[in-house]
Amino acid sequence: MKDDIERVLFDEPAIRTGLRKLAAELIRIYRGRELTVVPILNGSCVFASDLIRLLPIPLTLEFLACESYGDGTVSSGEVKLKFFPEPVTLEGRNILLVDDILDTGRTLKTVSGIIREAGAADVRTCVFLDKVERRAVDLEADFRCFEVEDVFVVGYGLDYAGRYRNLPYIGSLRSEVYSDAHDHAGTDGDPERS
Ligand code: 5GP
Ligand code: MG
Repeated sequence: MKDDIERVLFDEPAIRTGLRKLAAELIRIYRGRELTVVPILNGSCVFASDLIRLLPIPLTLEFLACESYGDGTVSSGEVKLKFFPEPVTLEGRNILLVDDILDTGRTLKTVSGIIREAGAADVRTCVFLDKVERRAVDLEADFRCFEVEDVFVVGYGLDYAGRYRNLPYIGSLRSEVYSDAHDHAGTDGDPERS
């Protein structure tokens, strides 16, 4: 696994420092309010579990995945949310959507729209990485740990073809491992790519 990594962008000490800064910001904003943290599976599982343990405030957790429907090969572009376990009531809740990486912004834009329509009182977004250069829609994260350059990264929850999520750092993949840098062939629910 390590041999497939070209360069480490954020090592474990850097991630710990980034998380502590982010947690301090979240504590300031959410102190005194009941919070529901909603990690978008699978990519955000590592980030979310590290982050919530740095938040000494009352919170609940709901897990969410996106499904897109099409004819099997072409996405319809229609995204459906799947909660684990269902059903879940979002009405009146302060929701913090957590994702591994903000890229084009389509995932978080769609998901936050659906959650707002479901009656949440407040919806904010929190990402581990923000690939600013790749934005295609009008969405910025309310909270982020790091800005990252436009390279395909894995580790700390992020996968390539389902692998590398268990690397404790963020690294770029050697080009031999994949063919097209922008064919982000993860297994996560991105309507455009999976
Ligand atoms: P967006 O909807 O913002 O374009 O895409 C977000 C999703 O694309 C992420 O949750 C992730 O699954 C995938 N993605 C975008 N960039 C990368 C990357 O550099 N590495 C990996 N592993 N996944 C990425
Ligand atoms: Mg994802």
